[in-house]
Amino acid sequence: MQLCREFTNFNISYKRETNFIRILFAAKPQSHEEYTDIYLYLLYIKRKAMKAMMLTGIRNMEMRDIPEPKLVNSNDVKIRMSVLGICGSDIHYYTQGQIGSQKVQYPFTVGHEGAGVVVEVGNSVKRVKHGDQVAIDPAMPCYECDQCLAGRHHTCRNLRFLGCPGQAEGCLMEYIVMPEKSCFPLTGKLTTDHGSISEPLAIGVYAEKKSGGVKGLNTGIFGYGPIGMSVMLAAKANGVNKIYVTDLIDERLAIAQREGSFTCNPTKENIIGKIMHEEPSGLDVAFECCGKQETLDQAVELLKPGGKLIVVGIPEFEWWSLNVEKTRRKEISLQFIRRQVDCVEQTLEMMKNGLITIDNMVTHRFPFERTKEAFDLVAGYRDGVMKAMIDF
Ligand SMILES: [Zn+2]
Ligand SMILES: [Zn+2]
Repeated sequence: MQLCREFTNFNISYKRETNFIRILFAAKPQSHEEYTDIYLYLLYIKRKAMKAMMLTGIRNMEMRDIPEPKLVNSNDVKIRMSVLGICGSDIHYYTQGQIGSQKVQYPFTVGHEGAGVVVEVGNSVKRVKHGDQVAIDPAMPCYECDQCLAGRHHTCRNLRFLGCPGQAEGCLMEYIVMPEKSCFPLTGKLTTDHGSISEPLAIGVYAEKKSGGVKGLNTGIFGYGPIGMSVMLAAKANGVNKIYVTDLIDERLAIAQREGSFTCNPTKENIIGKIMHEEPSGLDVAFECCGKQETLDQAVELLKPGGKLIVVGIPEFEWWSLNVEKTRRKEISLQFIRRQVDCVEQTLEMMKNGLITIDNMVTHRFPFERTKEAFDLVAGYRDGVMKAMIDF
C-alpha cells in the first residue's frame, strides 16, 4: 500500500494491484476545507491517470483509468511503453484465469514482453537516462536469497515477475516503473521491437546454452510457436547442423522452412518415419517446445543414444511420463528450462550483430485499444499468427 499524502484527520491511499482508492478517516471530516481537500486529491489522481488494459474475467478485458505509477526507490526507472509482445502465458491467464496454482485476482493486468522509452529515473540510476529506448526484463529478483546468491535469479525465492498473479501487475499499461537492473538500453540499430522480442528470444538462447551447445549437431524442435522459433534462431546463430521442426500449423511450418529448417506436420505425415529417413542414426538434441506428451514421446523416439532432451514447453497437465525402456537404454539426458537467466544482454547483442534476425517472427500488430482482438487471434491460433504485437 502506497501512501500518497497525509492529512490531519484522514489519509488517502491507492493500491495499484487492485486499482483501489481508499480514504481512511481518523475522524469524520469536519470542515468544508477537509472535504475540498479530498475532492481536489481525487481530481489530482484522475488527472494523473493513465490507461491500463485489465483482465476482468475469463476472456474479458477492459481499458481502465488508473493513476500513473511513481518512482519509489532511487534505482527505479519510469518507462513509457512503446510495444508489447503477446505471450502464450498471457493467453493462459486470459482464457483460463490461471496457470497451475497461479490464479488471477480480477482486475489484473498481464503482459511481460515489453519495451519503451525512459521518461524518469531515480537518483542512483546510471545504466539508462531520460529518452533512452529500453528492453524490459520482466524479472525482478531479490538479489539476496540463496538462489540469487548462486546466480540463479530466475528461480529467486522472492521473485516478482511482470504480469504474474500475486507478484506484479503486467505492462499492458501506458507507464510502468521498473528497477534499473531490469532495463536494457537499445543501442545501434536495435528497435523497441527487438527489445520486446528479446524476452522470448532470451529463453531460446538460454535453452540452447543449457543443452550444452548445438554447434554441428542435428536438432529437433517439437512445437513451433514463438518459443520454438526462438530456440531455432538461437540454434542457427550457434552453428547447428540440421534442424527438424514439427508443428500442427502449416503457416508456422512455412516460417520454419523460410528459416531453412526441415519441417513435418504430424497431422499429415508420419514424422518419426520421415525424420528417421533423413537422419537414420537419430537426433543429437531435441527441444520440446509446446508442452505436449506426444511431442515428448516423439522426441525420445527420435533421439540417438546419448541424446539430450530439453523440455521448454509448459504443459496444461500435471505430470509428464517417460518411456523407461527407451530413455534408459539410450541413456537420454533430461534438462528442464525455467525461463532464462542472464541472457538478455547477449540476446540483444546477437540481434545487433545480425547473428539473429527477427523479420519472420512478428506476424501481426494491433493498437493498444484493440488488445482484446489480438488476444482472441492468438488464443485461436488464427491467421497463421506467430507473434502479435501491441503498439501503444
Ligand atoms: Zn513470455
Ligand atoms: Zn532472490
